Amino acid sequence: MAIEVTGGIVVNERGTVVTYRQKCEECGYVYDYNKTTIVPAYSTRSARNFTCPECANYQEVSVRHYYGGSDPKRKPN
Ligand SMILES: [Zn+2]
Repeated sequence: MAIEVTGGIVVNERGTVVTYRQKCEECGYVYDYNKTTIVPAYSTRSARNFTCPECANYQEVSVRHYYGGSDPKRKPN
């Protein structure tokens, strides 16, 4: 199982517990603190959206599990 984050980067994953940092997809700004959430297996969880302090982009955040890492349609972060 692997984790993919929209609006963030994965710092650590342990089962369904994911540690990530919020990241602006517009300018690449990454917060310097970790957040942790629980993602249901093979499902998607919305996380807290944020407004980028660098470029004011409103970034939506979602975290999802997907099976394996070999699906060619998916790219890991
Ligand atoms: Zn930004």
